[in-house]
Amino acid sequence: MSEPVPSSWCEIHLDRISDNLDLALGLLPEGTTFCAVMKADAYGHGIARVVPVLLDRGVTRIGITSNAEARAVRDAGFTGRLFRLRAATPEETEAALADRVEEQVGSILAARQMRALIEGGRAQVGVHLALNAGSMSRDGLDLATDEGRRECRAILAELAAHIIGICTHFSSNDPHPLRHGADLFADQVTWVCANSGLNRADLLVHAGSSLTLLSGQRIETDMYRCGAILYGVLNDGQGFRPTMELKSRVVHIGDYPKGAAVGYDRECLLSRDRRLACISIGYAAGYSRIAQDRGAVLIRGHLAPVLGKVSMNSIVADMTGIADVQVGDEATVFGGEDALRVAPSDAVAQFLTILPDLFADWGIRNPRVYL
Ligand SMILES: *Cc1c(COP(=O)(O)O)cnc(C)c1O
Repeated sequence: MSEPVPSSWCEIHLDRISDNLDLALGLLPEGTTFCAVMKADAYGHGIARVVPVLLDRGVTRIGITSNAEARAVRDAGFTGRLFRLRAATPEETEAALADRVEEQVGSILAARQMRALIEGGRAQVGVHLALNAGSMSRDGLDLATDEGRRECRAILAELAAHIIGICTHFSSNDPHPLRHGADLFADQVTWVCANSGLNRADLLVHAGSSLTLLSGQRIETDMYRCGAILYGVLNDGQGFRPTMELKSRVVHIGDYPKGAAVGYDRECLLSRDRRLACISIGYAAGYSRIAQDRGAVLIRGHLAPVLGKVSMNSIVADMTGIADVQVGDEATVFGGEDALRVAPSDAVAQFLTILPDLFADWGIRNPRVYL
């Protein structure tokens, strides 16, 4: 049987992940460590192939959200510390015991469950107290209220002996809210230690993501948990490079007359005779319908505007004036080299979302080719 020929695919630059990691490690303040975040199957890049790159560079801490990700990280040969970066259901927690996932606890309910698992000899690793100092109001305990502090004391009474870390997640990395959240977190860590037998020096206190690390602000943390920075999606400068490209192919070239409608619902009418290329990617592969009237793909080094509504499995690009285009040519949705590329800022403007959203979506919907 011959290899399937993909309609569209993601090209993954593992060497760039390695380079981005080195750059990120160089930014770590003295005395802090790095946790590589691999949720959404490593932001769409594929855990199985990214983990060996991280192991090569000496990464010993990885963050995930789902059990499938935890298993994939272990299957890839990772024996270091594995952190779940959100609250989990009792079922998830139990099913992840074999993979030695360090869980977050942000409620008395979760604390009781963890205590039972630990005292039953089933959980082999300690837990992390999740606080809402960073104000995500997602799954951390909020210590601003009497009720929150009461619940925290109850959690500490239940579980203090097994708490090995305290964490929060910042909702903003703009200077002012970040400073506020970081100072609040530092105060709350002090409060927790003062209201328990916990000793700050024995704990892994962790907060801060890629943008926090890039902000240059000093915050109370022993470990930065970073995803985006590895995949080059935050800042095109400082040497960081995007690690994914999305490509497809020209499958038809045709000449269509002035007045012809392009795509569903006659929303695009040709104002002049045009040479159009049908490209083998559509919304089913993550070329979002939101890109209508904004999209452009790179064919033979030229940007060809995408016309009309996006179909399920195809788009139509105006290749009038681009010489020598042939069926089978690559059409780059995202990526390319140097000046001839669809850059992160272009993709953000075309798809009206952030790059992590695009990478997670594209990487999961398309076959991945590793370079
Ligand atoms: C996703 C996530 C991170 C990593 O964020 P990036 O912006 O990708 O670096 C860190 N911590 C938590 C809790 C997260 O959910």
